[in-house]
Amino acid sequence: MFDLDLHLHSTASDGTLSPSELVNKCAENGLKVVALTDHDTLDGIDEAIGRANTLRNIEVIPGIEVSCSWNGTEVHILGLFARLDDTRLSEYCRRARKNRLSRSKKIVERLQHIGVEIKFEKVIELAGDAVIGRPHIAKALVDAGYVKYPKEAFDLYLGSSHSSYYPSSTISPVEAIDLLVESNALPVLAHPFRSKVKSGRNPIVNLSTLISELRPRGLQGMEVYYGDYTDSQINRLSLIAKDNDLIECGGSDFHNSGNPGEPQPGTVGPPIKTFHSLQERLK
Ligand SMILES: [Zn+2]
Ligand SMILES: [Zn+2]
Repeated sequence: MFDLDLHLHSTASDGTLSPSELVNKCAENGLKVVALTDHDTLDGIDEAIGRANTLRNIEVIPGIEVSCSWNGTEVHILGLFARLDDTRLSEYCRRARKNRLSRSKKIVERLQHIGVEIKFEKVIELAGDAVIGRPHIAKALVDAGYVKYPKEAFDLYLGSSHSSYYPSSTISPVEAIDLLVESNALPVLAHPFRSKVKSGRNPIVNLSTLISELRPRGLQGMEVYYGDYTDSQINRLSLIAKDNDLIECGGSDFHNSGNPGEPQPGTVGPPIKTFHSLQERLK
């Protein structure tokens, strides 16, 4: 098991463990430092840090995962050491929540159009207070018996190649880096390659072009250790990170999703020295 996991989700977005339950699980798995990186929200951070302060054997880095699109490809940028009191970041989260709600409604309408009988009200109910997203629609499809687990919903209904797909109106990666740099968070490029466990997302083509756009604007790290990446994927990403002076980050991207083979917190990770390198860049 590893000491550091820099990519985790809670019920504040599309994870199924509350921030406290997630921190408990991470501590049980022996993790020393973890980052909570919910999609487009900082809502779970206070609770996660509160739980870590009670446990005292684990530290929580406040983080966020910003959804972007780049030439038609979904790109995610993590912001580590995000500040909860930053007004620009809060305003971004507010807008993203609104956009996600209207996108989810469009997707459910498209599903209904092809005869899938799920109701938008049900998806809203499943999301609760969380920032809504396709995983909540996936859960509704599981509950209605259309698929066995969430990944199958992405494979059969929600992936970008399906007729019910509706693109998100997200910001560009450059805008995300600018937002994170201005709010004093450290931007990290998430999961550049395809992961077998997450089939709903395409790999970034022209990764070197994207890095050459983002590095001068303040990109600080890239996920090298991630989810179910193979040794050869890790080795390739490690070389790219070194070539571009990017800190080698990563984590499980744990959602407690119920997908078979989902990597658990602490089973994938960068070495603890990554944490110290990140702290250096914060100065
Ligand atoms: Zn992601
Ligand atoms: Zn994630």
